[in-house]
Amino acid sequence: MIWGPPQVNIEVQLHTCPKCARTYSHKCNLMRHLRLECGVGPRFQCSSCEKRFKHRHHLRDHEKLHTHHWGLDTHMNLQVKKNSIKS
Ligand SMILES: [Zn+2]
Ligand SMILES: [Zn+2]
Repeated sequence: MIWGPPQVNIEVQLHTCPKCARTYSHKCNLMRHLRLECGVGPRFQCSSCEKRFKHRHHLRDHEKLHTHHWGLDTHMNLQVKKNSIKS
């Protein structure tokens, strides 16, 4: 099963947000991001990752994911790092 997209399609012009360097394939998406997401309104930033939320209950829902998997994820990440260094 060897197939791939034609090379031509890979060349897509991306629009990069000047504030947070996110990239969007359509300019309208970037404009919406700048208007609604990037540096606008109250920002509730997750203390465990870079994600930000417009509403506090969204952040709360998101942070549950971190607290739920926190111990496991940390251990797995450490092990992966150790293993890759050892070899
Ligand atoms: Zn941005
Ligand atoms: Zn997070």
